[in-house]
Amino acid sequence: MTQILAPGKRATIPILTADDVASSAAAALAEARRRFDLIASLPIESLEATEVLERWDDASIVLEDAFGPIALLNSVHPDAAVRDAADRALIDESVFATELFQNEKLFERVRRLSPASGAQKQLRKDLIESFEDSGVALPAGKRQRFREISERLTALGQEFAKNIRENKTVLHFTPEECAGLPQAYLDRVPKDREGNIVVGFDYPDYVPFMMNSASEAARRRYYIANTNRGTPRNIEILDEIVALRKEIAQLYEVPSFAHYVTKRRMVENPETVARFLDEVKNAVTDAELRDLDPLQRIAEKPKIERWDMMYYRERLRERRYAVDQEALRKYFPTVGALHWVLDITERLYGIRFEEASVPTWHPDVLYLDVKDAGTGDLIGGIYLDLYPRADKYKHAAAAPVRGVSRRAARKPISALLTNFNREGLTHDEVETLLHEFGHVLHGVLSQTEYNQHSGTSVERDFVEAPSQMYEEWANRMESLALLREHCAGCPALDASLVSRIRAAKKFGTGIDYGRQHLYAAFDMALSSAEPGECLEVWKSMEAATPMGHIEGTSFPGTFEHIASGYAAGYYGYMWAKVIALDLVTAFGKDLMDPVTGRRFRDEILSRGSEEPARDLVERFLGRPVSSEAFFQEIRGE
Ligand SMILES: [Zn+2]
Repeated sequence: MTQILAPGKRATIPILTADDVASSAAAALAEARRRFDLIASLPIESLEATEVLERWDDASIVLEDAFGPIALLNSVHPDAAVRDAADRALIDESVFATELFQNEKLFERVRRLSPASGAQKQLRKDLIESFEDSGVALPAGKRQRFREISERLTALGQEFAKNIRENKTVLHFTPEECAGLPQAYLDRVPKDREGNIVVGFDYPDYVPFMMNSASEAARRRYYIANTNRGTPRNIEILDEIVALRKEIAQLYEVPSFAHYVTKRRMVENPETVARFLDEVKNAVTDAELRDLDPLQRIAEKPKIERWDMMYYRERLRERRYAVDQEALRKYFPTVGALHWVLDITERLYGIRFEEASVPTWHPDVLYLDVKDAGTGDLIGGIYLDLYPRADKYKHAAAAPVRGVSRRAARKPISALLTNFNREGLTHDEVETLLHEFGHVLHGVLSQTEYNQHSGTSVERDFVEAPSQMYEEWANRMESLALLREHCAGCPALDASLVSRIRAAKKFGTGIDYGRQHLYAAFDMALSSAEPGECLEVWKSMEAATPMGHIEGTSFPGTFEHIASGYAAGYYGYMWAKVIALDLVTAFGKDLMDPVTGRRFRDEILSRGSEEPARDLVERFLGRPVSSEAFFQEIRGE
């Protein structure tokens, strides 16, 4: 059952049918149960840490072999039967995991281990925390209730995601309402019999429309519909999720769900989050007003509304910086931009990508072997699923399908999921591509001893640091200059255009961080001691911002992050951004410096969660983290 591979052999994702999903999940759970039962029956007086943790790693690998692919196919498989079977299998897996970490015999055995290495010490600590967080030490009644809550939270999170992913709403806009839209957009999107365009909520439909449609009424209609993708059901779901999380805090007798969550994060407690968000708020209040002022003037109307935002920001970028996101697509043809990202990654990290033909879940999907450039050894593999389609996950993400385990010679696999325009990318989308590629690299370049420590298993408030760091490679000439080699026919991206793109990007950081602050503060409010009803809380918090709340909008129903693993963790984007911008400073004036790149690969990416993130970062920087670059960015300096 365990696929322990010989070094050099490629691992791939099995493309399962609905029946396969059910049978591979059942077989993996049975085999993992057998293996964990064996660990639970090891004689307690003669436990040997290396043996126990190796057995643990092998049993975890059995689970990951089945559920890594199942979790991915759940978001991307074109066949509804496969996605639904995956939903059921993932509930079974979550029930199994809770039971596993409530097993007192296993807990006792892990507690008694004397670790023989740093990685073992960390793994023992991580496992003990998983036992504690799953209620192993709670009285029987509370333990039972914790199991019920965990299972229900998994099902609710799935339903929330499905309501967004499988939303079939389309909007029709008349030719008058399309004034201002790029011709390439109008040529691409479908039309109804009356000649109106028919669009949904995929990014390639929504974003160019909101940036360019001159009709305020049309933008307003599209904006409001977009915030209602999940309503009414997702609002009910989120309220139930919040209530169940509050109950978890009560089971543990801690003041709030945020306390339960943050003790395992870099911040360690909600008070640190509150102090950090206050600091951001102080910086962002002026910055947001500073950014709104010129938009207000360009718009020539008494109050700029939320559906005007993208439109007037784009007009301002054009007028002030001569930067037009739609026109930038010529500079970043999608395939060329991808090849450029592969190229700079190869140079920076001493690796090589080789495209290979393997079975995939859709003909659009590409597969690449990742090899070490020096030795030629196979490191792992990545899948790229770049374009939108019906029922596919709607945002951009990287899926850690399979984690490394050096001791088991296990090759990692990550999948990149995006919803790009096939013709070309805007500069924002180039940043998105680099961001997700940063996560993919964290997954495939990790070289941890144990599977549990692989790549993106780091603290949730650190995980966005390598990805946000890589976004900077979209903004500097030394990396962008190499684009030329992947698009012979494209217009040249010269230093003047790059500096205008950067200036245009700086404009609006106050607005963007204002929004990020609101999301993070809202998330913390829902994880607090007295969370309240999510829509009411949202309305009052949004109403207190400079742009106010729009009646009839329902953003919380679309906020997948807090319905899932980012609860009491959305602040982590900004917390990790502080680290990300500080990490960039290590590259100095040359982002393409392979020596620093190699050091980043060895000291951060390859180490996964074998050590606390703070220790890894401080070793790489040679000093504690500084928030200076982050606050400079907010202030637009
Ligand atoms: Zn990310």
